[in-house]
Amino acid sequence: MSLITVGTMAFDAIETPFGKVDKIVGGSATYVAYAASNFVQPIQQISIIGNDFPKEELDALTSRGVKLEGVEMVPDKKSFFWSGKYHLDMNTRDTLVTDLNVLADFNPIVPDSYQGAEFLMLGNLMPKLQLSVINQLKTKPKLIVMDTMNFWMDVALDDLKEVLKRVDVLLVNDSEARQLSGEFSLVKAARNIMAMGPKFLIIKKGEHGALLFHENHVFVAPALPLEEVFDPTGAGDTFAGGFIGHLAKTKDISFENMKTAIIVGSALASFCVEKFGPERMKEITKADIDSRIAAFVQLVNFEIDLV
Ligand code: AMP
Repeated sequence: MSLITVGTMAFDAIETPFGKVDKIVGGSATYVAYAASNFVQPIQQISIIGNDFPKEELDALTSRGVKLEGVEMVPDKKSFFWSGKYHLDMNTRDTLVTDLNVLADFNPIVPDSYQGAEFLMLGNLMPKLQLSVINQLKTKPKLIVMDTMNFWMDVALDDLKEVLKRVDVLLVNDSEARQLSGEFSLVKAARNIMAMGPKFLIIKKGEHGALLFHENHVFVAPALPLEEVFDPTGAGDTFAGGFIGHLAKTKDISFENMKTAIIVGSALASFCVEKFGPERMKEITKADIDSRIAAFVQLVNFEIDLV
């Protein structure tokens, strides 16, 4: 079962109330690949890096079944750099620096060997580039999932709306759903956004879990109450990778299976926040994932006896 992932591969500088790192590998496609590769391999990555991206990091991805044929390496430029600082509640952050570097002239090319992929994960990236990847695919994937962020709503809303017409599932957080729809109620926002194209909408609410909307149905997934959240960077991308990884593994894109997939995504995201950058994602095993999914089941499992 093949899965194409598109997005950034980056260096991040992160400051949280618990610590600070000046340079750690990140990027939307990096986190998606780490999460999804727990469920399906190969992962067919499309991204761009500069001459500074460490070989060990590429090798670490390759060893997890991540194909890098679609990752362009620009010899004389630096990788995309992003820097963010979290507020005390860890649910909100300020972007301090976005240095596009290689991303400024990125023109993603889908390698021939990636054609025929059944699942496409459009990680957070310029909407024009997300659309270009869709247009290059000779056969329409079974499912296209798209992640985006408020930044693209501010600077490229028309392009974003064009991509929305072509995707099956959109992932946004609650404030982005409100911004995109102009509605405060998340139920109204979901209806409004699904009218723009996606048949399914996932609204992430950080430590409060996520909502899955489809037609008139809604499903609520909790987030695991964690004693320590060290660094939320990449949690959204990790959620996306776990979500599409589960769907690609089971080859079932029904609403019922998407309910399971958002629990899987939430479980993966709960690991990601335990250490800086993707460090924790590199360590976890299938047994770790299984026991955390079991913890989620316990969290929401109750019997009620109405007399
Ligand atoms: P998340 O915390 O899930 O929103 O993802 C954080 C990751 O997204 C970081 O590793 C950044 O390198 C990457 N990132 C930040 N801003 C952008 C952007 N404008 N486009 C694409 N990737 C970004």
